[in-house]
Amino acid sequence: MKGFGIIKGLGVTLKHIYDTYAEDIKAGRKRYYNEAGVRQRMTHDTKGIFTVNYPEERLPVAENFRYVPFLVYEEVEGEKVPRCTACGICSKVCPSQCIWITRAEDPETGKPLKTPAEFAIDIDLCMNCGYCAEYCPFDAIKMDHDYELATYERMESNVHHKDRLLKSASYYAGIRPTYYALEQQAKAEAEAKKAARRKPREGQEGRERPDRKERLDKTEE
Ligand code: SF4
Ligand code: SF4
Repeated sequence: MKGFGIIKGLGVTLKHIYDTYAEDIKAGRKRYYNEAGVRQRMTHDTKGIFTVNYPEERLPVAENFRYVPFLVYEEVEGEKVPRCTACGICSKVCPSQCIWITRAEDPETGKPLKTPAEFAIDIDLCMNCGYCAEYCPFDAIKMDHDYELATYERMESNVHHKDRLLKSASYYAGIRPTYYALEQQAKAEAEAKKAARRKPREGQEGRERPDRKERLDKTEE
Protein backbone atom coordinates (compact mmCIF):
# COMPACT_ATOMS: atom_id res chain seq x y z
CA MET A 1 0.00 0.00 0.00
CA LYS A 2 1.39 3.40 -0.96
CA GLY A 3 2.51 5.50 2.00
CA PHE A 4 2.45 2.54 4.42
CA GLY A 5 6.22 2.84 4.98
CA ILE A 6 5.83 6.49 6.09
CA ILE A 7 3.03 5.59 8.50
CA LYS A 8 5.08 2.72 9.89
CA GLY A 9 8.09 5.02 10.37
CA LEU A 10 6.00 7.64 12.11
CA GLY A 11 4.60 4.92 14.35
CA VAL A 12 8.16 4.00 15.45
CA THR A 13 8.87 7.67 16.19
CA LEU A 14 5.65 8.04 18.18
CA LYS A 15 6.45 4.90 20.17
CA HIS A 16 9.88 6.31 21.07
CA ILE A 17 8.31 9.61 22.16
CA TYR A 18 5.75 7.79 24.30
CA ASP A 19 8.39 5.43 25.82
CA THR A 20 10.68 8.38 26.58
CA TYR A 21 7.99 10.16 28.62
CA ALA A 22 6.86 6.93 30.26
CA GLU A 23 10.44 6.04 31.30
CA ASP A 24 11.08 9.61 32.48
CA ILE A 25 8.02 9.47 34.73
CA LYS A 26 9.07 6.05 36.07
CA ALA A 27 12.77 6.87 36.74
CA GLY A 28 12.56 10.63 37.32
CA ARG A 29 15.77 12.65 37.06
CA LYS A 30 17.92 9.55 37.63
CA ARG A 31 17.98 8.91 33.88
CA TYR A 32 20.00 12.00 33.00
CA TYR A 33 23.35 13.62 33.78
CA ASN A 34 24.82 10.72 35.71
CA GLU A 35 26.87 7.68 34.71
CA ALA A 36 24.24 5.11 35.71
CA GLY A 37 21.62 6.85 33.55
CA VAL A 38 23.95 7.01 30.55
CA ARG A 39 24.84 3.33 30.95
CA GLN A 40 21.17 2.41 31.21
CA ARG A 41 20.42 4.21 27.95
CA MET A 42 23.31 2.29 26.31
CA THR A 43 21.75 -1.12 26.96
CA HIS A 44 19.93 -3.03 24.22
CA ASP A 45 16.67 -3.22 26.16
CA THR A 46 16.48 0.50 26.89
CA LYS A 47 13.19 2.14 26.01
CA GLY A 48 12.55 5.59 24.65
CA ILE A 49 15.42 8.03 24.25
CA PHE A 50 18.87 6.50 23.86
CA THR A 51 20.90 9.53 22.82
CA VAL A 52 23.23 11.38 25.21
CA ASN A 53 23.33 15.11 25.87
CA TYR A 54 26.94 15.77 24.90
CA PRO A 55 28.99 17.54 26.29
CA GLU A 56 27.05 17.47 29.59
CA GLU A 57 26.96 13.68 29.28
CA ARG A 58 29.62 11.45 27.76
CA LEU A 59 29.54 7.85 26.65
CA PRO A 60 32.03 5.77 28.63
CA VAL A 61 34.72 4.35 26.37
CA ALA A 62 35.90 0.74 26.29
CA GLU A 63 39.23 -0.09 27.89
CA ASN A 64 40.69 -0.86 24.48
CA PHE A 65 39.52 2.44 22.99
CA ARG A 66 42.49 4.34 21.59
CA TYR A 67 42.96 7.91 20.56
CA VAL A 68 46.33 9.68 20.41
CA PRO A 69 49.41 8.32 22.19
CA PHE A 70 50.91 9.59 25.45
CA LEU A 71 54.17 8.91 27.26
CA VAL A 72 54.15 7.15 30.63
CA TYR A 73 56.29 8.46 33.47
CA GLU A 74 57.08 7.00 36.89
CA GLU A 75 57.16 9.22 39.96
CA VAL A 76 60.62 8.78 41.55
CA GLU A 77 61.36 10.93 44.62
CA GLY A 78 58.91 13.56 43.44
CA GLU A 79 60.36 13.67 39.91
CA LYS A 80 58.73 12.63 36.67
CA VAL A 81 60.94 9.96 35.15
CA PRO A 82 59.79 8.97 31.64
CA ARG A 83 59.89 5.25 30.91
CA CYS A 84 61.03 6.17 27.40
CA THR A 85 64.68 5.40 26.62
CA ALA A 86 64.65 7.31 23.31
CA CYS A 87 65.38 4.07 21.42
CA GLY A 88 63.42 5.39 18.42
CA ILE A 89 61.54 2.17 17.64
CA CYS A 90 58.12 3.87 17.80
CA SER A 91 59.14 6.57 15.33
CA LYS A 92 60.50 3.91 12.94
CA VAL A 93 57.33 1.80 12.97
CA CYS A 94 54.91 4.75 12.84
CA PRO A 95 53.19 4.47 9.42
CA SER A 96 52.44 8.22 9.32
CA GLN A 97 55.95 9.18 10.43
CA CYS A 98 54.56 11.66 12.91
CA ILE A 99 56.87 10.99 15.88
CA TRP A 100 60.06 13.01 16.37
CA ILE A 101 62.55 12.16 19.12
CA THR A 102 65.76 13.86 20.22
CA ARG A 103 67.88 11.85 22.62
CA ALA A 104 69.25 13.67 25.66
CA GLU A 105 73.01 14.03 26.10
CA ASP A 106 75.21 14.17 29.16
CA PRO A 107 76.08 17.87 29.48
CA GLU A 108 79.64 17.07 30.60
CA THR A 109 80.67 14.19 28.39
CA GLY A 110 78.26 14.69 25.48
CA LYS A 111 77.42 10.97 25.60
CA PRO A 112 73.85 10.00 24.70
CA LEU A 113 71.51 9.27 27.62
CA LYS A 114 68.67 6.79 27.72
CA THR A 115 65.98 9.44 27.91
CA PRO A 116 64.43 11.84 25.41
CA ALA A 117 65.38 15.52 25.46
CA GLU A 118 62.42 16.19 23.18
CA PHE A 119 59.56 14.01 22.03
CA ALA A 120 56.85 15.32 19.73
CA ILE A 121 53.84 13.81 17.98
CA ASP A 122 51.85 15.58 15.28
CA ILE A 123 48.35 14.44 16.17
CA ASP A 124 46.96 15.73 12.86
CA LEU A 125 49.04 13.07 11.11
CA CYS A 126 48.52 10.36 13.72
CA MET A 127 45.96 7.82 12.54
CA ASN A 128 45.50 6.21 15.97
CA CYS A 129 46.76 2.84 14.77
CA GLY A 130 48.50 2.05 18.07
CA TYR A 131 51.64 0.59 16.45
CA CYS A 132 53.89 2.81 18.57
CA ALA A 133 52.36 1.39 21.76
CA GLU A 134 52.47 -2.17 20.42
CA TYR A 135 56.14 -2.05 19.50
CA CYS A 136 57.57 -0.07 22.42
CA PRO A 137 59.75 -2.54 24.37
CA PHE A 138 59.55 -0.45 27.55
CA ASP A 139 55.78 0.11 27.87
CA ALA A 140 56.62 3.78 27.63
CA ILE A 141 54.03 4.93 25.09
CA LYS A 142 50.34 4.12 25.36
CA MET A 143 47.12 5.06 23.60
CA ASP A 144 44.99 7.59 25.42
CA HIS A 145 41.24 7.72 26.01
CA ASP A 146 41.09 11.52 25.87
CA TYR A 147 39.35 12.41 22.61
CA GLU A 148 38.43 16.02 23.38
CA LEU A 149 41.37 17.67 21.67
CA ALA A 150 39.65 20.22 19.44
CA THR A 151 41.40 23.58 19.21
CA TYR A 152 40.84 26.90 17.46
CA GLU A 153 44.25 26.65 15.83
CA ARG A 154 45.42 23.67 13.83
CA MET A 155 49.17 24.11 13.54
CA GLU A 156 51.27 24.42 16.69
CA SER A 157 48.64 23.26 19.19
CA ASN A 158 48.26 19.95 17.38
CA VAL A 159 51.90 19.08 17.80
CA HIS A 160 52.06 17.54 21.26
CA HIS A 161 55.44 18.00 22.91
CA LYS A 162 57.03 16.03 25.73
CA ASP A 163 55.50 18.04 28.58
CA ARG A 164 52.02 17.55 27.22
CA LEU A 165 52.57 13.91 26.28
CA LEU A 166 53.80 12.84 29.72
CA LYS A 167 51.15 11.23 31.92
CA SER A 168 51.65 9.23 35.10
CA ALA A 169 51.73 5.44 35.36
CA SER A 170 48.76 5.71 37.74
CA TYR A 171 46.77 7.51 35.01
CA TYR A 172 47.62 4.65 32.66
CA ALA A 173 46.58 2.12 35.33
CA GLY A 174 43.28 4.00 35.68
CA ILE A 175 42.32 3.92 32.01
CA ARG A 176 43.67 0.43 31.19
CA PRO A 177 43.57 -1.58 34.43
CA THR A 178 43.64 -5.00 32.74
CA TYR A 179 46.69 -4.27 30.62
CA TYR A 180 48.47 -2.51 33.46
CA ALA A 181 47.97 -5.52 35.74
CA LEU A 182 49.20 -7.94 33.04
CA GLU A 183 52.28 -5.83 32.39
CA GLN A 184 53.09 -5.56 36.10
CA GLN A 185 52.74 -9.32 36.43
CA ALA A 186 55.04 -9.93 33.43
CA LYS A 187 57.60 -7.50 34.90
CA ALA A 188 57.49 -9.21 38.29
CA GLU A 189 58.00 -12.62 36.63
CA ALA A 190 60.93 -11.30 34.57
CA GLU A 191 62.52 -9.81 37.73
CA ALA A 192 62.07 -13.11 39.58
CA LYS A 193 63.75 -15.00 36.70
CA LYS A 194 66.64 -12.54 36.68
CA ALA A 195 67.08 -12.88 40.43
CA ALA A 196 67.05 -16.66 40.14
CA ARG A 197 69.79 -16.52 37.46
CA ARG A 198 71.88 -14.19 39.65
CA LYS A 199 71.81 -16.48 42.71
CA PRO A 200 74.26 -19.19 41.56
CA ARG A 201 76.78 -16.50 40.57
CA GLU A 202 76.42 -14.83 43.97
CA GLY A 203 77.08 -18.24 45.56
CA GLN A 204 80.49 -18.32 43.84
CA GLU A 205 81.51 -14.92 45.21
CA GLY A 206 82.82 -16.35 48.49
CA ARG A 207 85.33 -18.64 46.73
CA GLU A 208 88.65 -16.93 46.28
CA ARG A 209 90.63 -17.34 43.07
CA PRO A 210 93.83 -19.31 43.84
CA ASP A 211 96.92 -17.12 43.55
CA ARG A 212 99.44 -17.59 40.71
CA LYS A 213 101.92 -19.69 42.72
CA GLU A 214 99.19 -22.05 43.86
CA ARG A 215 98.06 -22.51 40.27
CA LEU A 216 101.63 -23.17 39.04
CA ASP A 217 102.16 -25.72 41.81
CA LYS A 218 99.01 -27.52 40.76
CA THR A 219 100.16 -27.59 37.12
CA GLU A 220 103.54 -29.01 38.10
CA GLU A 221 101.89 -31.79 40.10
S1 SF4 B 1 58.39 5.44 23.45
FE1 SF4 B 1 59.21 3.37 23.54
S2 SF4 B 1 59.72 2.82 21.43
FE2 SF4 B 1 59.44 5.06 21.50
S3 SF4 B 1 61.50 5.83 21.79
FE3 SF4 B 1 60.57 5.66 23.81
S4 SF4 B 1 61.21 3.63 24.56
FE4 SF4 B 1 61.58 3.65 22.34
S1 SF4 C 1 49.20 5.68 16.81
FE1 SF4 C 1 50.08 5.02 14.84
S2 SF4 C 1 50.09 6.85 13.58
FE2 SF4 C 1 49.80 7.53 15.71
S3 SF4 C 1 51.86 7.96 16.46
FE3 SF4 C 1 51.42 5.83 17.00
S4 SF4 C 1 52.24 4.62 15.29
FE4 SF4 C 1 52.09 6.75 14.60
